[in-house]
Amino acid sequence: MPELPEVEITARRLGSVLRGAEVESVRSPGMVALKSFDPPLDRLVGMEVEGVRRVGKMFVVSFSGGDGPLELLVHLMSAGRLQVFDKRASVKDRASRILIRLADGRELRLREFGTKQRAWAKLLPEGEAAGDEMVATLGPEAWPAPPIAELARAVDVPRHLHPLLRDQRQIAGIGRSWVDEILWEARLSPFKKGSELDRAEVERLRGGLAVLGRAIDRYEEEVGDEIPNKMPMPLQVHRREGEPCPRCGATIEAVFYSEHQTNYCPAEQTGGRVLKDRRLSRLLK
Ligand SMILES: [Zn+2]
Repeated sequence: MPELPEVEITARRLGSVLRGAEVESVRSPGMVALKSFDPPLDRLVGMEVEGVRRVGKMFVVSFSGGDGPLELLVHLMSAGRLQVFDKRASVKDRASRILIRLADGRELRLREFGTKQRAWAKLLPEGEAAGDEMVATLGPEAWPAPPIAELARAVDVPRHLHPLLRDQRQIAGIGRSWVDEILWEARLSPFKKGSELDRAEVERLRGGLAVLGRAIDRYEEEVGDEIPNKMPMPLQVHRREGEPCPRCGATIEAVFYSEHQTNYCPAEQTGGRVLKDRRLSRLLK
């Protein structure tokens, strides 16, 4: 489930290996993933990759040449990957949603694992990605951390911090893994409401966002040009229930939901209170 640090390092690596590559042909099997119609995907043929950048948890791949620059806005959702391969996909490859064949023999593929088709892309004229509703509605980027006043405004909402920080319209780039790390770093309860944070707590939250930058630094050292299917995510509390807190030694606890879980250190984040059942979580603040 790629979040800001994973998308950021992928965008950097893809940008460096793809810049200047010419598009030979394009395919969009099934047409489910491509959510735009005009310009058509084959307008990319003959164009060059100009660069790859990240916005929130999305990619923008820019192309130059042809009848005018274009941008491919890509959202991996929960199980997508954007990867370059040295060889072209076989016709049996059912994971690929969009394939961009390059003149040098390589292929950029939007792939998706599992049965659900949720990953998507939109081909847009240059500059229009910023106006797309998925981009235009994003809150401030979580990394680099926004100025304290901007962060305070973004989280001044009467919702628990765990869902609040994962809401891309409030703050962009955080998902189910890194939210646990950020709150643990900030020593804040996932069940505290954003609107209840005082100034010192907002400052701690801002400090907690630094885990995203440290993850990117780590990926810079560990991830090569070939993007792995599974990133070596340096997580300290997420999915570590039952293990000792790396900071204080207390046992990391978990609250399970239908599709995700929250991990936290009760000694440092919830005043010693342990709640395993989400029906009880509303009692915690
Ligand atoms: Zn602890």
